[in-house]
Amino acid sequence: MYGGPLMHSDDGAIEFDYVIVGAGSAGCVLANRLSADGKSSVLLLEAGPADTNLWIHVPLGYGRLFKEKSVNWMYQTEPEPGLDGRTVFQPRGKVLGGSSSINGLLYVRGQHEDYDRWRQHGNSGWGYDDVLPYFKKAENQQRGADDFHGVGGPLPVSDSRHADPLSSAFVAAAAETGIPVNPDFNGASQEGAGFFQTTTRRGRRASTAVAYLRTAKARANLQVETSALAQRILFEGRRASAVEYRKAGSLRTARARKEILVSGGAYNSPQLLQLSGVGPAELLRKHGIDVVLDAPGVGHDLQDHMQVRVVTRCAKPITLNDIVNHPVRRILAGARYAAFRKGPLTIAAGTSGAFFKTSPRLATPDIQIHFLPFSTDKMGEKLHSFSGFTASVCQLRPESRGSLRIRSADPAAPPEIRINYLAAEVDRTTNVEGLKILRKILQAPALRPYVVEEVDPGAKASTDEELLNYCRATGSTIYHPTSTCRMGSDPLAVVDQRLRLRGIEGLRVVDASVMPDLVSGNTNAAIIMIAEKASEMILEDVR
Ligand SMILES: Cc1cc2nc3c(=O)[nH]c(=O)nc-3n(C[C@H](O)[C@H](O)[C@H](O)COP(=O)(O)OP(=O)(O)OC[C@H]3O[C@@H](n4cnc5c(N)ncnc54)[C@H](O)[C@@H]3O)c2cc1C
Repeated sequence: MYGGPLMHSDDGAIEFDYVIVGAGSAGCVLANRLSADGKSSVLLLEAGPADTNLWIHVPLGYGRLFKEKSVNWMYQTEPEPGLDGRTVFQPRGKVLGGSSSINGLLYVRGQHEDYDRWRQHGNSGWGYDDVLPYFKKAENQQRGADDFHGVGGPLPVSDSRHADPLSSAFVAAAAETGIPVNPDFNGASQEGAGFFQTTTRRGRRASTAVAYLRTAKARANLQVETSALAQRILFEGRRASAVEYRKAGSLRTARARKEILVSGGAYNSPQLLQLSGVGPAELLRKHGIDVVLDAPGVGHDLQDHMQVRVVTRCAKPITLNDIVNHPVRRILAGARYAAFRKGPLTIAAGTSGAFFKTSPRLATPDIQIHFLPFSTDKMGEKLHSFSGFTASVCQLRPESRGSLRIRSADPAAPPEIRINYLAAEVDRTTNVEGLKILRKILQAPALRPYVVEEVDPGAKASTDEELLNYCRATGSTIYHPTSTCRMGSDPLAVVDQRLRLRGIEGLRVVDASVMPDLVSGNTNAAIIMIAEKASEMILEDVR
């Protein structure tokens, strides 16, 4: 723990103005902004440890953290009917910085139309023009400020520090198929092919723990407790008054004079609410939990981006596989990173990529491609012994919906996660069409000198049916679960437009769970924006 002395109330509980559960992408932003006045006392509870694992700070280290249980919740879905009954591994950060400490570092905001859609669905204040100032406020854009980007914010956004001919050839190949080159996926329009920017600073990861928490940690009014698992929110009537948490084997209580902010992420936030008596009444009763509020939307509407990977055998020994599998080249790459923070160790979970439409009838892209100059059998596993590269298809606006439900009243038990990948017809056709367009790119002249053959799916899939079977047999997550405590005003909406839990006082949810639906891109930037906006709303609403 760091921060000033703890204040105890008469019953032995510690007392703060704000208690934040979860020091992830959103929680660290809140902790910084709410403690900035130097007066309001803030407690930030984090179930995981401090971010001392060295691989957190090396961009390519995400491969090492993928199954590192000291910093990862390592969830699994239930058997997925649309994926041949397979369970899908769901990594989630359990460490200061949360998933922003283990993620793929890509900085992608989504489409302007995503936020305008949120507003159209009744969430006033969340249209693109409304949220752009918060993206800019967060940002320290390496390329400088413009209409879409900000400088001077806590979150560094940088260009790649590793020139890679394959990644460039992918962009050129996409252009040859008619996809325009786009130098900025977060600018006027997302559509096109280009290079991703990352949340890094001089070749090091900028998690929200690094970008937001480090600068705030000297403040005497901010306390951060690691290895502290929030087990229950306590209520006085319909007012959330305290958080009960377990640390070092003992149960402790932290009272909130002003508000409790739940930022445990799309799986843990609805889990904590259900454990606390806020959720579908039948589920809570089944597990012997007293119902504080029958809120059927808590855990409802879970959605996620799926990815389907195409692996190509490369004609030249220039892939990361060739570097990692060669002892001398591996050592040289490590030395280069140590000396200059450049080279292959700075690679994020995509170097270049593309956003395109699978049908001219669409207004905006429905597919994102992540290109990577390496290949594996499965994400997080050993690199292939041959030279290989990967490009994955990700459908941007899936219509399949799932759920998150507690399995028992035990706060340490992992929840039951059902995504229902590929349940909706449009999700099946979009993935198949996306694979067909990706194949055209991979066969375009600019990539030809590098391609020996497509390894996966290769000859195994050529018809639509075979491609769909490939999606079912190999599809996995691209790690963007959202919307389990969705913002809105319909009966299943959990929070209102100011992220206050409907029907409860003194409690907001601020994280991926509140997205009305998925944004068309990677989720970290949007969640940081949500937390920036939430901080301002909290400071306006709470006195
Ligand atoms: C492997 C991986 C790769 C990804 N790649 C990208 C990418 O390249 N670009 C991108 O934009 N997005 C990416 N994402 C997604 C993005 O990182 C997440 O959407 C985002 O970080 C989620 O933010 P959050 O605040 O909702 O939750 P999190 O950041 O997950 O934070 C939740 C925090 O709450 C803590 N917590 C939970 N329950 C409790 C409790 N009961 N008590 C105390 N603490 C608790 C957790 O330990 C965690 O630290 C990736 C995610 C993963 C896992």
